[in-house]
Amino acid sequence: MSTGDTTAASDTASPEKPTRFEPPVSDEGAPFWEGTRDRKLLLPWCTACPQPIWYPRAICPRCFGTDIEWREAAGTGVVYALTVEHTPQTRALRAPYVVALVELDEGVRFLSNIVGGAPEDVAVGTAVQVTWEALSDGRHLPLFTPIE
Ligand SMILES: [Zn+2]
Repeated sequence: MSTGDTTAASDTASPEKPTRFEPPVSDEGAPFWEGTRDRKLLLPWCTACPQPIWYPRAICPRCFGTDIEWREAAGTGVVYALTVEHTPQTRALRAPYVVALVELDEGVRFLSNIVGGAPEDVAVGTAVQVTWEALSDGRHLPLFTPIE
């Protein structure tokens, strides 16, 4: 009987650092999550428009086209809107923390956290770049950090 998997799981679930909610993978979002294994921020693009779409789905919301291809995003953008949470919604997050809508350079808006600085230093228009937090199954969660 192997205990390798059990040991790996308990390493990430210590009381000091509770694990974060890990997003489920939908059929439409599967390529996105596969990209995060290599820390690549992939966006679905409608080849007819041609424009990126966010969130992932099978049909373009502009032209109803179904020819979707995945392209790597630059990983940079600006904070479009934000809120500072003072009451953590999960034990994995230490308050205060920033929840932000990041407008990527490609034009889509992405809901995430801003990390790596004081919440009061983040504002609408702050330039940010992607950074990655490892999940337990090899995927990574894209977060954003201010560009110095
Ligand atoms: Zn389209």
